[in-house]
Amino acid sequence: MRKIAVGILVLFIISCKPNPKDFDTIIRNGMIYDGSGSEPYKADIGIKGDTIVFIGDLAKSSAINDVDAKGMTVSPGFIDTHSHHAGVLFEQRDLPAAVSQGITTIISGQDGSSNFPLSKFYKELADTPVAVNIASYSGHNTLRDSVMGKDFKRYASPAEIEKMKALLRQDMEAGALGFSTGLEYDPGIYSNKDEVLQLARELQAFKGRYISHIRSEDRFFWDAILEVITIGKEAKIPVQVSHIKLAMHNLWGKADSLIAILDEARKNGIDITSDIYPYTFWHSTIRVLFPDRKFSDENEAEMILKEITLPEDIILSAYEIQPEYEGKNLAAIAKLENKPPARMLVELIARIEDWEKKNKRGCEEGIMATSMNETDIKKLMQWPHTNICSDGSSSGTHPRGYGAFTRMLGKYVREKKVLSLQEAIYKMTGLAAQHVGISQRGLLKQGYFADIVLFDPATVKDESTIAEPHKFSTGIEKVWVNGMIVFENKKTTGQYPGKIIRRQ
Ligand SMILES: [Zn+2]
Repeated sequence: MRKIAVGILVLFIISCKPNPKDFDTIIRNGMIYDGSGSEPYKADIGIKGDTIVFIGDLAKSSAINDVDAKGMTVSPGFIDTHSHHAGVLFEQRDLPAAVSQGITTIISGQDGSSNFPLSKFYKELADTPVAVNIASYSGHNTLRDSVMGKDFKRYASPAEIEKMKALLRQDMEAGALGFSTGLEYDPGIYSNKDEVLQLARELQAFKGRYISHIRSEDRFFWDAILEVITIGKEAKIPVQVSHIKLAMHNLWGKADSLIAILDEARKNGIDITSDIYPYTFWHSTIRVLFPDRKFSDENEAEMILKEITLPEDIILSAYEIQPEYEGKNLAAIAKLENKPPARMLVELIARIEDWEKKNKRGCEEGIMATSMNETDIKKLMQWPHTNICSDGSSSGTHPRGYGAFTRMLGKYVREKKVLSLQEAIYKMTGLAAQHVGISQRGLLKQGYFADIVLFDPATVKDESTIAEPHKFSTGIEKVWVNGMIVFENKKTTGQYPGKIIRRQ
């Protein structure tokens, strides 16, 4: 009896004392772009724990962390639907490349390559969390590699496809968003359409999705687009074209034709969407230039250097064999060796192949090549079903790894006015979340997770360049992930609030 009386007294005292802090964080006076694409408005945001609990007038409330966002844009954290930032995840748990450009969620397992098995990766991530949220697809190339090993330069047998299906189902049970392909890369390039379709059909039962670096972004582009549309139609699942581009000179100016085909497919009930990064040049292996893998074919090399990218437009970003060539373009290297550029291209690859035979491992090599045009990029960016991605990595040499999202805001919104600020933010947040099938993120909304970016719309811009690919952007003031601040004062904070996002 006495205990109860004391308890009541304590409760009475607690309830009489005004709560000193109503929220963990209040972001005051900012301009709210809620990620839905609608008009911005002025309001305060109240955060408790990992959740946005109030949006409105909080003039009379207090918080442990009180942030004045006057003159700033407040947006949902950016969702990178095609990211390679997970490459050095456990070495760089604070993910400076991602958070410094406002990215709070990265979607991993792209281009057919994923952490395998996904359950193991998620266990490691649960034990060693990182600064951003992570979701992943299950990668075709990864599954193909574990089933077929070194004997991959052929179609898979029915039994091998069954094995891949079983592995895919395991990853889907672990929470994969869906299935990704990288059909310009080994070993997926050796698959036929039926293999991919059969695997994609597994996704329907899981309500999974298909995301694809399609079979060709240049020579066989239209057929590759048809393949992804067919998968959407036959497997009855949403399909997304990764980093959509027209990467060959004779495809330039065809963005309208491409969009017409995609719109027609959507009219026929196929849920096809795309993501894009805001650069005219890509980064990949040097060998991706030769889809038939005939690396010694000088005629093919001539065609590549005429139709896909010019000798001065290919920069060797990595070349382990002769590091002195890194950062130089093919025209300059050809001049140094006094060879025609086509011969030089063929020889650079021959040296890689020889070196790999001798050293029994893959050689570090990569190129950045300009093969897209601005008008097409703008049109594809404006297509209502395109969201923004980086395709970037933390350790890469392409500036997109540190600057894709801020480049959108600086170059394509403020300078070129290709999109309004609310449209661009929608394509970086709300639309991106829809395209990969994640909920409770991508909007500033009561009850949603508090993934938030605070930036200065007047100054925000990318600073990373080919010469300095790891330079932080300007204008990103603060970034929260699940209510905790991960980036401020141009520095990461060393907090690791990121969560694993499983398919819902
Ligand atoms: Zn790709």
